[in-house]
Amino acid sequence: MRLLLVEDDTMIGESVHAGLQQDGFAVDWVQDGRAAELALETNAYDTLLLDLGLPRKTGLDVLAALRRRGDSIPVLILTARDAVADRVKGLDAGADDYLVKPFDLEELSARVRALLRRKSGRADPVLQVGGLSINPATHEVTLDGKSISLSAREFALINALAARPGVVYSRAQLEEKLYGWGQEVESNTVEVYVHSLRRKLGPNLIQNVRGVGYMVPKQP
Ligand code: CA
Repeated sequence: MRLLLVEDDTMIGESVHAGLQQDGFAVDWVQDGRAAELALETNAYDTLLLDLGLPRKTGLDVLAALRRRGDSIPVLILTARDAVADRVKGLDAGADDYLVKPFDLEELSARVRALLRRKSGRADPVLQVGGLSINPATHEVTLDGKSISLSAREFALINALAARPGVVYSRAQLEEKLYGWGQEVESNTVEVYVHSLRRKLGPNLIQNVRGVGYMVPKQP
């Protein structure tokens, strides 16, 4: 899953960026409101983490513009402890959740997972598709009850596909979910991971849709 982090405080930005990557998210980080808008226009993100006090354009303005143009991306705002009025304004402007600084990285990760769950219309934190079971919090994967060991990128790929069974993703869309800026995308990377996932999870779980991309069917 790919996240956009908008935070002008370098120390917070660096630690959140590193922590979320550690948790298996692809994360892009920008430090002002205009850079955030440019990033949102040019990339597809699964969640936006938005500081409100930002140079060049405030987080509230970024959020309002986003919702005005009908973008339904989940938004979690990051605010200061004393800024109750800002949190209220943020939620009323279309944010889905907020966290008060300083916050715990584990809590941030958990809230992002909750937003991703809600976005895909699920309540169960564990993804189940046929005999496959994926826990996005612990990264545990089982197939017919048997534990399967996956690399971080293999996990990211099957997690993205299984979160929306029946939805076809192009190779480029999947690459976007696996890599943030500055991370070199190897050629044929999606094919390579699909191949190794099929070896570990069986040949039928990930299906090719010719000329379009890949999907996990609703009933594999
Ligand atoms: Ca700020």
